Amino acid sequence: MSKVVLVVGGAGYIGSHCARLLSERGVEVVVLDDLSAGHREAVSGPLIVADIRDRAAMRDALQSRPFDAVVHFAARALVSESTANPALYFDVNVGGTATLIAAMIEAGVDTLLFSSSCSIYGAPQYVPVDEAHPKAPMSPYGLSKWMVEQMLDEVRLRHGLRISSLRYFNAAGAHPSGELGESHAVETHLIPLAFDAALGRRPPLQVYGRDYDTPDGTCIRDYVHVMDLAEAHLSALEAMWRGHPGSAWNLGTGRGSSVLQVLDAVARVSGLTVPREDAARREGDPPKVWASAAAIRRELGWTPKHTELEEIIASAWRWTRAPRY
Ligand code: UDP
Repeated sequence: MSKVVLVVGGAGYIGSHCARLLSERGVEVVVLDDLSAGHREAVSGPLIVADIRDRAAMRDALQSRPFDAVVHFAARALVSESTANPALYFDVNVGGTATLIAAMIEAGVDTLLFSSSCSIYGAPQYVPVDEAHPKAPMSPYGLSKWMVEQMLDEVRLRHGLRISSLRYFNAAGAHPSGELGESHAVETHLIPLAFDAALGRRPPLQVYGRDYDTPDGTCIRDYVHVMDLAEAHLSALEAMWRGHPGSAWNLGTGRGSSVLQVLDAVARVSGLTVPREDAARREGDPPKVWASAAAIRRELGWTPKHTELEEIIASAWRWTRAPRY
């Protein structure tokens, strides 16, 4: 019999790609999302519209049928907003997750996969960043993710749930069908902003800092394809269904690209020039971040398939030219 999964936050960017992949692989998916940032058009199956902080709604959702797991993407995810309004981030990201877990326990759902982030590490003391790297989040957003991971460790230990956290580096790209992609009301991410600048939809791209201690003076990040992230979710779920107690794993390609390398790739892929301006450093941006994803490769056999920056950017470009929402 096929597994049934509740994808919480499944109308958002990474959640929708994961939900789609799970259903393509024969998992029955129900999406729950409050649609505050997600898109109804990104959901192809059943959708429950609810806020994760609403205990009664979460109880109803989790008891609506026997779920084999919850995959939890629902969160506020803007670093700058989190700095301006930390209480909101603790309320939604931490409080909402506590409500979700309580409802899972009540409903007897024993497997959870949580969307975490490399922002829990703060400015890396070394690269590649492995899972044991000290945790020193630099924003309320990063802190909320780290608080949840620690909360989940206790729950795993004392309630006997199987729980894994996947720590994403920089998610990018889109679904190969052209039906799903990245679409944020407030866009802060480099690749979509670069395309918009190239298309004249926004002012020139501001390059935040040219004086970092990196080969070209701009920040280095690990851009990982959203479909590779989705595959990792399936691998982690399958492992837990086989009896793995769960763990925390980094998801990145292990290779870093600078802001200028990204802008060059955007120009090559689109055939457009990317108007840009040198700007001051953005507060809280570490110079170099890339992942060691050796642990998940070793333990679950996950390895990213789309490792070329240009391939990831080409996938984002196909979406940018014809977004569905
Ligand atoms: N960046 C930039 N200009 C922008 C947006 C981002 O120079 O308009 C840089 C940013 O400083 C960082 C990299 O691009 O080094 C990736 O930023 P993004 O916000 O996409 O992801 P983050 O690494 O902050 O999660």
